[in-house]
Amino acid sequence: MPSKSQFIVALEVLGREQSIEVIVDAKKLESFSSDKSVYEAHLPCAAVRPDSLESVSSVVKLCLQHNVPMTPQGAASGLEGGCIPRHGGCVIDTSKLRRFDIDKANSCVWVGAGWKKLELLKKVHSEGLHFGPDPASNPSVGGMCSTGGSGMSTLKYGTTRENVLSLRVVTPSGAIIQTRQVVRKSSTGLDLTQLYCGSEGTLGVIGEICFKLHKKLDFIAGGIAQFNTTEDAVKSVVEIRKLGNLHSLIRCELLNKGAVVVSNQELGTKLPVAPTVLLEFADSEPSLEAIRRDFSVLETIFQSQRATSVRFLKDGEELESVWEARRGCLLAAGKFRKRKGEKILNTDVCVPLSALSDTVVSTEEDFAKADVPCVICAHIADGNFHCFIPFQTPEEKQRALSLEFRMVRRAIANGGSASGEHGVGVGKVKHLVAEHGAHHIAVQENIKKALDPRNLMNPGAFYPSQVALVSINPDAKL
Ligand SMILES: Cc1cc2nc3c(=O)[nH]c(=O)nc-3n(C[C@H](O)[C@H](O)[C@H](O)COP(=O)(O)OP(=O)(O)OC[C@H]3O[C@@H](n4cnc5c(N)ncnc54)[C@H](O)[C@@H]3O)c2cc1C
Repeated sequence: MPSKSQFIVALEVLGREQSIEVIVDAKKLESFSSDKSVYEAHLPCAAVRPDSLESVSSVVKLCLQHNVPMTPQGAASGLEGGCIPRHGGCVIDTSKLRRFDIDKANSCVWVGAGWKKLELLKKVHSEGLHFGPDPASNPSVGGMCSTGGSGMSTLKYGTTRENVLSLRVVTPSGAIIQTRQVVRKSSTGLDLTQLYCGSEGTLGVIGEICFKLHKKLDFIAGGIAQFNTTEDAVKSVVEIRKLGNLHSLIRCELLNKGAVVVSNQELGTKLPVAPTVLLEFADSEPSLEAIRRDFSVLETIFQSQRATSVRFLKDGEELESVWEARRGCLLAAGKFRKRKGEKILNTDVCVPLSALSDTVVSTEEDFAKADVPCVICAHIADGNFHCFIPFQTPEEKQRALSLEFRMVRRAIANGGSASGEHGVGVGKVKHLVAEHGAHHIAVQENIKKALDPRNLMNPGAFYPSQVALVSINPDAKL
């Protein structure tokens, strides 16, 4: 990289002038070199923590002047390697972007990209309102927008994208733009909000987000249904979705048998070892009448799909322990074989509901053939499922990647997407042309070239032309 030391000198001067935290110590920079994926770490030459959009803009302009790559980074909880500074350069850490302006009259809030999901939820609850998107992790809200993620409450509140009303972005040239006015309707041009959602830091830094807020629902209850087969469990959820959205149903998740086994073993949960559908309901009425009504509709469907057990769960310890199994499943999958240094390839796909049962069942069969544990946790009502694939040795890693490859190509062949919510990063790039076709990808690449002609904004990810495609075992083909 040209003139690195000159760049760092200039960055430190800028840091002093604008009170921007600048990190150049190699040891400290290690924490900016990776995320929660299985992809190789890379050290940046510097990292900054600006506390305003204006400071972000100054850093971007300085990087541009010195031809230094930039990588926006939120909480680094990504699973596809998107925030790894593959070309070194400068990490722009958004954690100090802390705007908070709630607008109760319009049920929305402007927040800095550095807010984390859980703290924002708590803050908004203290104002009597609710923040809808609910990934199982605790990412920054900027990261949630940038990956186009979602989570466990999509049924009721929609994906992150669907909760974003507007964005304030620093473009690759350092300009600060707002993507749209915060109004219910606007038909004045291209939808830049949706362009930036899911662009994974390749088109600029999302600095502030205006999120839709929802009514806070104080009374919750749950449900649990067990089945003999994954197929029955999935088909019952597909039947439920045919009803449209039920008023009080917030979450509908699946743990396959493998997921129940690892959760029981490692988290101490005591679920019957069977494919399990977990439900959560919420309402504003303490009587829980609406919830019980919705539950009984679902109970009938579960029974018609041969559920072996269906139970209503009141708010309290048992409901909490059921969700503990769901939330802790990834951790449990990494521990249950008691092998030192075991890692997890955590991958997701999304398919149309009509293909959901076939896709999940074929995936389980493929894992069984390869004699690899199949741990599936799913936002099943969205057609979105995750596989946690344990590996230890390089050979096992290759086998895990092969299984993932087949799972993704199967999903695409069934009309689905290579990722429902984790994004592209470096891990899913190899599937983009298969999913979208070459002409579509050319449009995306042209947008990138138009907005970032020098390719300095998060280079080396997201676009097939930028990533050396990972070679996969020949047996990975479907
Ligand atoms: C245990 C676990 C469970 C998970 N469960 C879910 C889930 O249920 N749903 C889900 O959607 N995801 C889930 N994830 C994945 C991850 O948490 C999400 O992808 C999350 O949205 C990433 O946010 P982050 O702040 O960590 O972003 P990072 O990992 O820091 O970055 C991700 C990408 O976004 C870019 N980026 C980050 N912030 C900005 C910004 N302000 N402006 C521009 N670009 C930016 C980065 O450059 C990178 O390309 C899970 C991860 C783990 C480890």
